[in-house]
Amino acid sequence: MIAQCLARSAAICALLEATYRQPELGNSQDPIEELVYIVLSTMTTEANYQRAFATLRERFPTWDAVVAAPVAAIEDAIRIGGLAPTKAQRIQELLQRIRDHWGMLDLSFLHAWPTSEIRRYLCSLPGVGFKAATCVTAYSFGRDVCPVDTHTYRVAIRLGLLPLGTPELGRRSHVALEQNLPAGERLGFHINAIAHGRQRCHLERPRCDGCPLLDVCVAPEHGRYSRREAASAVANPLDINAQREEPTAGIGGAEVGG
Ligand code: SF4
Repeated sequence: MIAQCLARSAAICALLEATYRQPELGNSQDPIEELVYIVLSTMTTEANYQRAFATLRERFPTWDAVVAAPVAAIEDAIRIGGLAPTKAQRIQELLQRIRDHWGMLDLSFLHAWPTSEIRRYLCSLPGVGFKAATCVTAYSFGRDVCPVDTHTYRVAIRLGLLPLGTPELGRRSHVALEQNLPAGERLGFHINAIAHGRQRCHLERPRCDGCPLLDVCVAPEHGRYSRREAASAVANPLDINAQREEPTAGIGGAEVGG
């Protein structure tokens, strides 16, 4: 059963890879930059948070300068991205905590750490949740983890890679999805799932006609897009032929969930 499920998820990864080939998403390889990007990207458009980040870097060329600046000056620099008072304070707290821990604003030494330790440390920083920590672990440290953003979550549910009812936010969805993906395919799945979610597998009215994943999708028929409707159609999302079995909690073995 485990081998069968992993074979199925490997086939899904291969189909996504053949279709989308992991497009560049513009994330930063510098972990501190990536953390600041994530704070700035909350509740705004990509264009606006890119501009907010550019202005912040222009006005404060070093992260130490950001920590030393009056919070009002940071607010002013990032105002275009919205929620400036909250984000300015969060950025300063985050940077201050890193400098308190290590005496510098540089996390490149974390490259030597195991994946689970990197993610655990990042989660300990103020305002950094499991998804944000997983993004930095993936993009800045190149580790094989799968951030569960809204596209990844929706696509994973529809493809039966996450048990129905799994909450979108938090550690649980990440652990479940990483366990259900073959080692080496987790970050690739995340990147390709974002492309699939943006281009075809939309929240409303997904373009199922001609979808390269139609044969492995558990909610392909017209109108059966919601989690509730998919739940009534397929009890076990990992095995569309075993409709009365309990969902499998996890089928992988490599390092996940740290
Ligand atoms: S068949 Fe439709 S719902 Fe299923 S993965 Fe493709 S676009 Fe999404």
